[in-house]
Amino acid sequence: MAEQPEVPVADGGEPTDVVAHHPVVIVGSGIAGLSAAIYAGRADNEPLVVEGAEPGGQLTLTTDVENYPGFETGIGGPELIQAMRAQAERFGATIVHGIVSAVEPGTPHRVVLQNGEVYTADAVIAASGASARTLGIPGEDRLMGYGVSTCATCDGAFFRGEDMLVVGGGDAAMEEAHFLTKFADTVYLAHRRDAFRAEDYWVNKIMAKVDSGEVEVLWNTEVTEIHGTPEGGIEGATLVTHPEGHPTEQLDDPDTEEWRLDVGAVFLAIGHDPNTGYLEGAGVELDEAGYLVTEGGRGGGQTRTGVSGLFGAGDVVDFHYQQAVTAAAMGVEAALDADDYLSDLDLSAEAATSGAAAVGSDD
Ligand code: NAP
Repeated sequence: MAEQPEVPVADGGEPTDVVAHHPVVIVGSGIAGLSAAIYAGRADNEPLVVEGAEPGGQLTLTTDVENYPGFETGIGGPELIQAMRAQAERFGATIVHGIVSAVEPGTPHRVVLQNGEVYTADAVIAASGASARTLGIPGEDRLMGYGVSTCATCDGAFFRGEDMLVVGGGDAAMEEAHFLTKFADTVYLAHRRDAFRAEDYWVNKIMAKVDSGEVEVLWNTEVTEIHGTPEGGIEGATLVTHPEGHPTEQLDDPDTEEWRLDVGAVFLAIGHDPNTGYLEGAGVELDEAGYLVTEGGRGGGQTRTGVSGLFGAGDVVDFHYQQAVTAAAMGVEAALDADDYLSDLDLSAEAATSGAAAVGSDD
């Protein structure tokens, strides 16, 4: 007697690791993925959303979102995401836990999860977002979550009354430093150059805090080590400063000064990296920073990638705007582009069937 297969067997008798097929599979459950799911659900495309390593995406790491249209006095990030999840489910989306390890293009595409499960899909929307960058310095990994953080709004309140260090010179660093003044004794803001990248709105807000003595800017300064223990928390950081900036690139220069700052928490706000590792074998184009390249431009099809049936939306594509509302809009565009693609697939399948029938009737 033949040995029983250890994996489920499909209709054709072939062993398969496929859990289910969906017309649309969406990778990522942040604002782009959930917006895509709402539209794909309403288009009867039975979307499956694979949550990813950070369910709900970056908005779940913020408190108030004050610039999302329609909420006059703002809305909590987690609250907005929760409402969008419920809305997507109401329109037929299925949301599953899991991290996608690969997308294998084909007919259908195979979406492979880290736990070995596979979902197949006619169209895949990559909405896997971007994750906070870290410095790669001693102490950082060991103390992440014990005083080192990439989210001031999540963790700032734990260090009430302490001195805090924020690293970065963009909008995020300004916003975090400004927020932390609620809790900190002094917020030190270390930037590797002598001019901020942030927009004037934020720079002005921070400079007002400098004037009031709540923030001190450490220009031309970088962090090289974070000190402390998981049990006792952060004790301080080693910093380097060079009068011309970028001190870590010139550590041997006699003008580079190394010094120690005692702080109770270190917040990293040095940008994000796109989550595209799982797309490396998918045949799509990634730019030099790893962002997924889509068609862009005008008219329909802007979210298409170079692989047919594979679309991209949100921060995994957008290295520039990176706003909740722009990510939501791109998610919608991807769902509409995927729906057009699925309609074309149906039409060509119908044409093939009627062509075959016509050939058959000639016989
Ligand atoms: P960002 O604009 O890329 O800024 C990153 C900052 O970190 C830069 O100042 C950069 O220095 C510094 N940096 C990068 N790598 C570093 C390293 N290894 N060591 C030390 N410093 C390092 O990123 P972001 O601030 O996260 O903002 C991303 C996007 O989100 C932007 O489009 C921003 O407008 C948007 N955003 C908007 C708001 C808001 O308006 N409410 C809030 C947050 C973010 P250099 O300047 O020298 O490159």
